[in-house]
Amino acid sequence: MSLNWEEEIAKCSMCGKCHSVCPVYLETGEESMVTRGRISLAIALRDHQITMTEALKDSVFSCKKCLRCCKICPSDVNFEIIIQHLLYSVAEEMGIPLLPKLVFRWVLPRRWLFNLMLKCAGIGQKIMPAKERGLMRHLPMMFLGDRWIPTLSKDSALKQFGGVHKVANPKMRVAFFTGCLINYVYTDIAEAVIDVLNRLDIEVVVPKKQLCCSIPALSLGDRKAATTIMFKNQDAMKEEKVDAVVAACGTCTKALKHDYLHVLEDSWQEMSDKVYDISEFIEKFTEYKTEPSEEKLTYHDPCHLFWALDIHDQPRDQLKRSGNYVELEGASNCCGGGGVFTLLHYDLTVKIMNKKIDDIEKSGADIVTSNCPGCVMQISDGIAGRDLNVKAMHTIQVLRKSLIDGSKRQLKEEVEVAS
Ligand code: SF4
Ligand code: SF4
Repeated sequence: MSLNWEEEIAKCSMCGKCHSVCPVYLETGEESMVTRGRISLAIALRDHQITMTEALKDSVFSCKKCLRCCKICPSDVNFEIIIQHLLYSVAEEMGIPLLPKLVFRWVLPRRWLFNLMLKCAGIGQKIMPAKERGLMRHLPMMFLGDRWIPTLSKDSALKQFGGVHKVANPKMRVAFFTGCLINYVYTDIAEAVIDVLNRLDIEVVVPKKQLCCSIPALSLGDRKAATTIMFKNQDAMKEEKVDAVVAACGTCTKALKHDYLHVLEDSWQEMSDKVYDISEFIEKFTEYKTEPSEEKLTYHDPCHLFWALDIHDQPRDQLKRSGNYVELEGASNCCGGGGVFTLLHYDLTVKIMNKKIDDIEKSGADIVTSNCPGCVMQISDGIAGRDLNVKAMHTIQVLRKSLIDGSKRQLKEEVEVAS
């Protein structure tokens, strides 16, 4: 599984097709902010024609790692390997800023410390004067810049739901990997995942020892911290003896399915084969009845599910069975969200997001869903900014409602037959 970045670079024919899809290039028009330009810089750096500078670092950090370019590249260049190599090079030559380094190496591997840090942030959210729009708050905090964020949950999903959720005759036993946004902010998504799986006769384990997926550390080039976290997650998942691991976050799913293999190699292969996006798992292994509502539903594709894992039909199928589905124009276009990128380049984030919100507005949908809490957060930010009457939710929450309504209808029909 170890791919060589120099072999990937050698495949590039410099055709420039990647310019047509890169969301950052489409906004900036700058060659240093697109795949081909970054490959040229990587070559120049390798050949000692240039040295690592702030401008080069900016070029590397402005990549969203959305992987659209990999999908359309006629030469099959795996740009992810190249950009990750560049991120490691930046970290090696310029260092990782002290605060994130402390967080990645000391806080993320220790759940109790991460909980404590987020508890303090939650208290800070309450006492700091903050502008609010809808459910989003603007906090002038370190790291966050201009970013609007939702309120942190009082209790984490792991605290509320950690452990085993049994059913009478389980068809399968799965581990639920929550990821940080669902764990600390969108605990209602965690509740929906567990409830839907239980309704479909799946026993759910929420391993209490699971940590962050490690992608924030990888995104700042901290391989050492990411490796430590990955090994701990490997232990947490392996000791549960499950048939599958499900995640409801596009980035976590892709990390567990692909990125862990780059670092943990063969020791992760068996687990990687068991990793599923929540909609993918439900469509592959279960059968269910729903009661569709009148609501107009639409779907936004998270980049890491659409471009990296080819998951697009399953969430749509669930929405089509849950309400009045309309396809969103440019559904697979990036929403602008994405971890470190949104913190370092919030201005670009907003420009990319505004196009997505235009399309959502045009769709006339009552609810826009996505299979990623990061995209839900980003779209909620855009909707709140325009004060639109549209809800942003995770697909599993819509499916849950239609399953509950379906059960009620079935019960009513059984009562009518019996009387
Ligand atoms: S599309 Fe592929 S081959 Fe063409 S310039 Fe971009 S990375 Fe190189
Ligand atoms: S991964 Fe996305 S942001 Fe980065 S170069 Fe490719 S298309 Fe552009």
